[in-house]
Amino acid sequence: MEGVSSLPRRRRVAVVGAGIVGLCAAVDLAEVGCAVSVVESEHPIAGASGASFAWIGASLRDVIERPAYFELKQMATEAYRRLTAKLGPDSGVRRTGAILWTEDEAEADLLEVEIAAARTAGVEADLIQPGSDLERIEPSLSLPPSAEAVAWLPDDGYVLTSELGRRLLGRLKGLGGLTFFGERADRIESRSAGPRLVLSSGRKIDSDAVVIAAGTQSQVLAETAGARIRLESAASAPSKVIGLVAISGPSCSALSKVVVGTDLMFRPDGGGRILCHSYDADSALASAAERFGAAAIAESVISRSQILLTDGVDLSLGTYRVGERPLPVDGVAIVGWCPGADGVYAAVTHSGVCLAPVLGEIIAKEVGQLRTCPVPSAFRPDRFE
Ligand SMILES: Cc1cc2nc3c(=O)[nH]c(=O)nc-3n(C[C@H](O)[C@H](O)[C@H](O)COP(=O)(O)OP(=O)(O)OC[C@H]3O[C@@H](n4cnc5c(N)ncnc54)[C@H](O)[C@@H]3O)c2cc1C
Repeated sequence: MEGVSSLPRRRRVAVVGAGIVGLCAAVDLAEVGCAVSVVESEHPIAGASGASFAWIGASLRDVIERPAYFELKQMATEAYRRLTAKLGPDSGVRRTGAILWTEDEAEADLLEVEIAAARTAGVEADLIQPGSDLERIEPSLSLPPSAEAVAWLPDDGYVLTSELGRRLLGRLKGLGGLTFFGERADRIESRSAGPRLVLSSGRKIDSDAVVIAAGTQSQVLAETAGARIRLESAASAPSKVIGLVAISGPSCSALSKVVVGTDLMFRPDGGGRILCHSYDADSALASAAERFGAAAIAESVISRSQILLTDGVDLSLGTYRVGERPLPVDGVAIVGWCPGADGVYAAVTHSGVCLAPVLGEIIAKEVGQLRTCPVPSAFRPDRFE
């Protein structure tokens, strides 16, 4: 009959993992018209995304060492703008700016070079005076006189990942996305009609594509489909993988910016709470048998942070979280189709909070619309072949 045509079937995509990467991907896929199912073995933001420092912005270290990664983070800054415009206020994304500082002379010299390179690349970054400038930007911070250099990155910020996760989930449901929480994806079976996800409950999800965003479990799941990606394991590289954030109880601190020193970093976490992280503490935790002593380690991170706060703030430990970073062995993101596993796509990175919105946009184009994005080959899964 004239004027009647059968509508093309919507592309079916199963996303494994409801961390920040999986949820951003799921929403963007649903927005380009895909029928999306999200499978999560625990609950949303249960993995690394819930134990993250969650600093977002263009990391200065990468501008010299890994310019392509720096560029991806720059793209992520723009993608965050689009995401927050879409989600509206209270999305959990706080673009407050970040203060970087060091007491080390060589690091101070390097910081100057990195700032110059970042500015050339179009990122706002400035060296500031530890006295007057700093007091104007962040009156709640008091750096020691030994501070050799202080930098200000006005476009950086942080994410309250639980809030962002909630907003993404709400949007996904509004777009008709299905969720299967508390069900583990056991394996991916290859079929000519597209990959099939088999869940621990026995449920089978047939799809045109599966996106693996399962954090540290991504390698194991990819292997069930015959695909190879390589992540550091907590057994072989504990100090790189295991991380702790210590969160203070409510305080009267008016701290509003992200503060990053050579080892210690902290930022607000809502309700006067301060969330603190230290790489030294991660190492101490990783070498502690069965994570014994995590509370004591968290206490010490809080005390070290308190010293740098003005206003006579008295911080006590509220809680702490221990997580495992999904860390590709070569230290850069994995994003793309997995060779040898038709219809299987991987999205795994240890800068997941920072990169999630740009990864979501890439996945929507590549998986949802079968277009190819100009992603550098260094980030593609076929590098592990
Ligand atoms: C201490 C610490 C500090 C960090 N600081 C930063 C930072 O400042 N900035 C930054 O960008 N990143 C940071 N990271 C890293 C960042 O948190 C992660 O890269 C990011 O959260 C990864 O998100 P994801 O969605 O890929 O993985 P996850 O958040 O780990 O989510 C994966 C999800 O998949 C689920 N899952 C796993 N296997 C299966 C399965 N078989 N079936 C179903 N579900 C499954 C898990 O339950 C989990 O919920 C930090 C991490 C830590 C631990």
